[in-house]
Amino acid sequence: MSLSGKTAVITGSNSGIGLGIATELAKSGANVILNSFTNRDEDHALAESLSRDHGITARYIAADLSDGAAARQLIADAGACDILVNNAGIQHVAPITEFPPEKWDQIISIMLNAPFHTTAAALPMMRSAGWGRVINVASAHGLTASPFKSAYVTAKHGVVGMTKVVALETAEEAITANAICPGYVLTPLVEAQIPETMKEYGMDRETALREVILARQPSRTFTTIEQVGGIAVFLCTESAAQITGTTISSDGGWTAL
Ligand code: NAD
Repeated sequence: MSLSGKTAVITGSNSGIGLGIATELAKSGANVILNSFTNRDEDHALAESLSRDHGITARYIAADLSDGAAARQLIADAGACDILVNNAGIQHVAPITEFPPEKWDQIISIMLNAPFHTTAAALPMMRSAGWGRVINVASAHGLTASPFKSAYVTAKHGVVGMTKVVALETAEEAITANAICPGYVLTPLVEAQIPETMKEYGMDRETALREVILARQPSRTFTTIEQVGGIAVFLCTESAAQITGTTISSDGGWTAL
């Protein structure tokens, strides 16, 4: 499948799953726009290396997606958006009674409001191009819950709902909207949870990974960023043209339990 000539905007793509998706799309010939809020030299260097390695055009655009206007501006600055990947995300773990309201607002802004703004800004571009793909990186937590992750689970369930609405609103056009629902992927977002888990359970790293972090993932194996990227590429193929409004799980059996 060649995505040559298509432009993909991947939010939160200087790291983890977003970078994995950007890399797989670039390998398939798409031009890519990387994004995060950090705007460091190495963010721009990442775009340069993707461009060099895959012979595509790549740019890094900084935007803090907790700000709705900045999310819309990201799409405007991209200039084209055939493939929109809403991926940026953060986590905070606390019982609901102790959940800091500002953390709640930040998580909902980045993970639920931003996909609304980017989608609203990108759909007119897809419509004028006559083709488009909206790919939302949800989670197994978009389909099921865990304690202490109220904002995250709420945002992910919300984005799954929005995916269905966008699919219906574009159903008669060559545009699809789907959500990918990974289980655990070993990225900085998960890495940050390991030391506390080891301490809390008095376990070494390998035991904490297997017995606590991967306890809900029956395969006891992390999903990889390349696998999630491959699913995004598949969603851009002609084989996936009638796949819309749905979720694709890559969770080692988590949601089969
Ligand atoms: P990560 O920490 O490696 O990447 C998160 C990305 O979001 C980074 O690029 C970061 O810069 C960006 N980001 C954070 N706040 C931002 C803001 N205000 N504005 C712009 N960008 C911002 O984490 P990841 O694990 O790769 O997570 C990516 C997505 O995948 C998230 O939506 C996450 O919920 C989802 N997800 C992760 C897992 C997992 O196990 N890692 C599982 C399922 C779903």
